Amino acid sequence: MSDPFDVIVIGAGPGGYVCAIRAAQLGMKVACVEKRATLGGTCLNVGCIPSKALLQSSEEFAHARGALADHGVLADGVRLDLARMQARKSDVVSANVKGVEFLLRKNNISWLKGAGRIVAPGKVDVAGTVYNTKHIVIASGSDSIPLPGVAVDEQRIVTSTGGLELNKVPGRLVVIGGGYIGLELGSVWRRLGAEVTVVEFLDRIVPTMDGEVARTLQRILARQGLKFRLGTKVTAANATDDGVMLTVEPAKGGDAEHIAADVVLLAIGRRPYLDGLGLAEAGVALDDRGRIATDPRFATNVPGIHAIGDVIAGPMLAHKAEEEGVALAEILAGQAGHVNYAAIPGVVYTWPEVASVGQTEEDLKAAGTAYNVGKFPFTANGRARALGDTEGFVKLLADKTTDRLLGAHIIGPDAGTLIAELVTAMEFGASAEDVARTCHAHPTLSEAVKEAALAVAGRALHI
Ligand SMILES: Cc1cc2nc3c(=O)[nH]c(=O)nc-3n(C[C@H](O)[C@H](O)[C@H](O)COP(=O)(O)OP(=O)(O)OC[C@H]3O[C@@H](n4cnc5c(N)ncnc54)[C@H](O)[C@@H]3O)c2cc1C
Repeated sequence: MSDPFDVIVIGAGPGGYVCAIRAAQLGMKVACVEKRATLGGTCLNVGCIPSKALLQSSEEFAHARGALADHGVLADGVRLDLARMQARKSDVVSANVKGVEFLLRKNNISWLKGAGRIVAPGKVDVAGTVYNTKHIVIASGSDSIPLPGVAVDEQRIVTSTGGLELNKVPGRLVVIGGGYIGLELGSVWRRLGAEVTVVEFLDRIVPTMDGEVARTLQRILARQGLKFRLGTKVTAANATDDGVMLTVEPAKGGDAEHIAADVVLLAIGRRPYLDGLGLAEAGVALDDRGRIATDPRFATNVPGIHAIGDVIAGPMLAHKAEEEGVALAEILAGQAGHVNYAAIPGVVYTWPEVASVGQTEEDLKAAGTAYNVGKFPFTANGRARALGDTEGFVKLLADKTTDRLLGAHIIGPDAGTLIAELVTAMEFGASAEDVARTCHAHPTLSEAVKEAALAVAGRALHI
C-alpha cells in the first residue's frame, strides 16, 4: 500500500490533466491514471489536435489548387502526398502529448499507467495495485455513439478515429451526421478530392448553432462540393467487395433507397465512456442520459467521488472540460471554483469557420426574450477583402431593453479567434454598445465585430 494521494484523477484528457495540474499548483499530492499509451485523451490523440492538423493541411492544398492563383501566385502541378500529410499530423500529435507528459513531471504529478477502477470511495485499483486517496475525480471522457445496422470496422466504416487515419482518399465518402465532427472531416476529405455526401436525420446541420448561421454554412459547404441529404436516416450499411452500400429512408418515413460509398464515416455524436470504472459497485448514480450525475460542485452522490468533462452534462468540448477541471481542483482546495456555462464558445473549424457563444435567435424566441440583432457581412470588411475571404458575417444578439449581449454568432474567416472578444465581453456583462465603443485595430477582421455591435443600434458605419 503506497502513501495516500490527495487527488487521483482517472483519465488524462483535457479535463483530467488540467484538473491534476491545478490541484498540484494548489499544493495537493496528485496522481493521474491513464490507460492509453500517451497522455492528452481524445482531444490530443484522436480529436481536436489531429483533426485541426488535417484541416490545416487540406486547406493549404485546396488553397494552392484554387484561390492562390487569385493572388497572382501560380502553383502549377500541385500534388498531394497524403502519407506526408498524415506523418505531419502524427508529429503534431506527438509534440502535444509529450508536452502534457512534461507538464505532469514539472508539477510532480504521478502518472499511474493502466486502467483505473474505483474499488471503494478513496481507493483506486490500477494494474493490480490499490492506491489510497482523499478525492477521486472521474474524467474518463467519451467515445462515439454506435448506430444499429452500421458495424464499424475502422477501415471502410469508420468513426472519427479511423476517419483521421485513412491512407487513401476515398472516391465516395458518406458522412452520417451533420454535426461539427462530420463536417470537419467531410471538409478534409472533400478538399483532398473525395466526393462527400452528408446524411443527416434532422432537417438542418449543426443543430445547436444559430439557424441562420447553419443555413449559411450549408450553402457555403455545398458550393465547396459537399452534398447534403437532410431529413434522412440510415438504416443499414452493408460492406460489399468494393465498398459499402448504405440503406437510407426519409426520417419521417417513406421508401428506402441505397447510396454507394467507398468509406462511411459514422459521426452521430458521442456518449460518456464509463467502462471498467466500477461505478455500479461504488454506487455512483447516472442521469437519464447515461452521464454521471453531479451537483454544481462536480460531486457525485458518493462522497469523495467527483466527475468532470465529457462524462457529465454540458457541451462535449475540450475547453469546457478544462474549465471544470480547474474549478473542481479549486473547490477541493477550499476555494470558490466556478464555471460560467453561459459563456462557453463552440467552434466548427470548417472554412469559413463558425463560432458561437451564448443564446441563439431560436433560444431567445423560445424563451420569449425581446432582443435586437446587429449583423455585419465580411464582404464589407477591408481586411477580409485583402485576404480574399469575404464569406459570412458577424451576428450579435442583445437584450432589447438593457442592450446586454446575449449571444454572438460568427461565420467567416478565423471566426474561432474572433469569438474570444465576445466571450470576454459576455463574461464582463457587456452591452453591445460597450463593444461598439471599443477601438478595434484597422484593418482587421475584428472590425466586423465592432460594426455588428454598432449595427445593434442601427448605426454601422461601413455599410
Ligand atoms: C474528431 C474530434 C474532434 C474534436 N474537436 C474538438 C475541438 O476542435 N474542440 C473541442 O473543444 N473539442 C473537440 N472534440 C471534443 C473533445 O475531444 C472532448 O470534449 C474532450 O477530449 C473531452 O475531454 P475529457 O477530459 O472529458 O475526456 P477525454 O479527452 O476523452 O479523455 C479521457 C481519457 O480517459 C482515459 N480513460 C478512460 N477510462 C479510463 C480508465 N478507467 N482508466 C484510465 N484511463 C481511462 C481515456 O483513455 C482518455 O485518454 C473533438 C472530438 C473528436 C472525437
